[in-house]
Amino acid sequence: MFCQWKVAFYRGMWYNFGVKILGIETSCDETAASVVEDGVRILSNVVVSQIDIFKEYGGVIPEVAARSHLEVMMPVINKALSDADCSWDMIDAIAVTHAPGLLGSLLIGTLTARTLAILHNKPLYAVHHLKSHVYANWLSSEKSSALESEDFSGNLPTFPLLALVVSGGHTQILYMSGHNRFEIVGTTVDDAVGECFDKVAKILGLPYPGGPSIAEAALKGDALKYHLPHPKVPNLDFSFSGLKTAVLRAVQKELNLPISHPSHDLKNHLSEQQIYDFAASFQKTAVEILCEKIEKSKEKYPDARSVVVAGGVSANKALRTALPEAFFPLPTLSGDNGAMVGAAAYYEIQSGVSPTDPYTLNIYPRISIV
Ligand code: AMP
Ligand code: MG
Repeated sequence: MFCQWKVAFYRGMWYNFGVKILGIETSCDETAASVVEDGVRILSNVVVSQIDIFKEYGGVIPEVAARSHLEVMMPVINKALSDADCSWDMIDAIAVTHAPGLLGSLLIGTLTARTLAILHNKPLYAVHHLKSHVYANWLSSEKSSALESEDFSGNLPTFPLLALVVSGGHTQILYMSGHNRFEIVGTTVDDAVGECFDKVAKILGLPYPGGPSIAEAALKGDALKYHLPHPKVPNLDFSFSGLKTAVLRAVQKELNLPISHPSHDLKNHLSEQQIYDFAASFQKTAVEILCEKIEKSKEKYPDARSVVVAGGVSANKALRTALPEAFFPLPTLSGDNGAMVGAAAYYEIQSGVSPTDPYTLNIYPRISIV
């Protein structure tokens, strides 16, 4: 369908050139749209976050998130088009997150994308959110075409690869044998690591979202002050609910309070230094757990040539330092954005995936990547 574009052979695959995709993302609490060219080059990237709304509540309220998406969805899309200097006739396809995420949030993005696809007669691609996070690692904001540039080869992950997806809702290790070919290597059996950062931040009285707050507090803390156990999970799966409870018990013990003492009151008894030390000790343990599983995955998949990290927690500097060989997205692309949706859709198209029917596209709030 993209036969009118230039085509080039690169690393064993034919690529279409000059394909502009409008990516739309609303799976949780960010309303985002972006125009991406050839799956690698960001022409615009507009993200309106609802963090300020939910700071007050300490978490996302799904109903409020959906209403908020509705208010800003079209202005965000219009800005993405104008920032990219694109009119509708220059857009080749629309891509949207249809799974997984909050039901109301997913509905706003997909209904908007479906309507625009019909109205402007564009092919529509439905993308899995975790796939999009992984493809943030292929994006650059450089203006020159990555496919045409000489240094392109050194800058992108090489297949087969292992992808560590660490976000507020998911913690998984995936094996990718090629573009758009995923296999689950390990997954969390309970909480996601981002969720664990958020819950521990609540115990320590640090502001929402917990990840960045913990990371900041940890800078002033002693990471060796409190010993927190690593969960004993067989194979390559994760468990983070035990780590959250371990922090809770360690705080109660430090304060000489019984385990029946309510967790929401503990922050009132902690000194600033104790908060910093708990944040640092927790962050160190969480990063160690992730790194241990990556090391074990490398042993199981010795043919893996790259490791890529994706999702909101990939913004974490301690994790970046602990995995110096791994690929990480640009820090601005660690969180939810439309550019990664456009990138993932491009590689779906390259892999021969057909567009979806805009009249019947459904959403799937809880569905696995494979
Ligand atoms: P996502 O679900 O991909 O939108 O990512 C959101 C999650 O990433 C939340 O749980 C955040 O607390 C977490 N997060 C964001 N920035 C950081 C950071 N610097 N360190 C650790 N976690 C983070
Ligand atoms: Mg996400």
